[in-house]
Amino acid sequence: MIRDLFINGAILISFISLGNQFLKDRDINVKSSLKVKILCGIATGFLGCILMMYSVKVYKNVIVDFRTLGILLASIFGGFTSSATSGIIIGLFRLTYFGVSPTSMVPCSTAIFIGIISPFITSKFTSLKKKWIYSLLFSNTVVSLSFIPLLDNIEVTIKTIAFYWIGTILASIIVFYYICYLLEANEMYRKYKEESTKDFLTGLNNVRQFDKAFNNITSKLEERDEKFSIAIIDIDFFKKVNDTYGHAEGDVILKELANVLLKSCRSFDIVSRIGGEEFSIMLLDCPLKQAMEIGEKIRLSVEKHDFILSDNRTINITVSIGISTYPECERDFNKLLKEADEALYKAKQTGRNKVVLCNYK
Ligand code: GH3
Ligand code: MG
Ligand code: MG
Repeated sequence: MIRDLFINGAILISFISLGNQFLKDRDINVKSSLKVKILCGIATGFLGCILMMYSVKVYKNVIVDFRTLGILLASIFGGFTSSATSGIIIGLFRLTYFGVSPTSMVPCSTAIFIGIISPFITSKFTSLKKKWIYSLLFSNTVVSLSFIPLLDNIEVTIKTIAFYWIGTILASIIVFYYICYLLEANEMYRKYKEESTKDFLTGLNNVRQFDKAFNNITSKLEERDEKFSIAIIDIDFFKKVNDTYGHAEGDVILKELANVLLKSCRSFDIVSRIGGEEFSIMLLDCPLKQAMEIGEKIRLSVEKHDFILSDNRTINITVSIGISTYPECERDFNKLLKEADEALYKAKQTGRNKVVLCNYK
């Protein structure tokens, strides 16, 4: 019996670990798409069927299994659609696996009943613990009642019900704590993943993500025969701003500038912070002339914008912008950035607060 219980525990843990691999990046909840909910129902139904195949022998020819835990998982995470799907799969499998008989109708309808009703219980609670406790109490009560017409010996019935409650409670405790651990680990994973691509100050792409996106976009330019421009934006005399107002206020300006840049370009352009006070915008499907217009729009928006400091004082800053375009300026993607950098250098050298284009080739 201990061996069977151990096998059931191992099946549950393996299933949850495997399922978690698909859910690292997204949650399953009531807001998930219908397809995801049905898939969740199928997967947990499948889990219930496996648990049924590894049932635990309690007494001579009396066996129990933990199939309902599959339904409860579906109910807690996927809601009604998942839970009902899971219950129906388990119920039908019960009929086909053990053969249709008058007695097999009871466990079949029990599984479907739990699948349909338990989401109404789980949806009443927000805490995972309460969802587990109350749905388990419900399903165990239904299953215990379903044992009564099947067993004619009162002593065997009581023993079976007691074993079933102890077994499912133990399994639920293990599953609950394991799921809590995975949910926490997933949250950390998503947080670190986001932090590895985003700049912590402005929320824009960081330089690593910029490189990735730049390589990705430029690798497809030739085959798509598309024009592409890159603008590099640098704040003018930012050191002076820091020296006058302090580094913290400098950060406030950087954050606000990120918003101004996002508002001044097109929604599908990619804005990144690629250095301390240096930003870049990848202008997709954008020829030189249009890039110049966007660059000028950005320059003017920054110039006109009143940057509000934390003590409500406002200051104004300007930016210099260097632009290069594929293929008008440069056909070699590796040199596109260098060309934009050189244009920016020229803008700085010739007075700042201006947009300079790369040399035509
Ligand atoms: P230029 O017009 O030639 O670009 O002059 P500049 O003063 O902007 O250029 P410089 O490269 O000399 O100085 C850049 C300054 O940006 C220096 C540094 O203190 C500041 N800076 C870089 N990163 C940050 C940051 O994260 N926060 C703040 N507040 N300042 C930063
Ligand atoms: Mg600067
Ligand atoms: Mg700089």
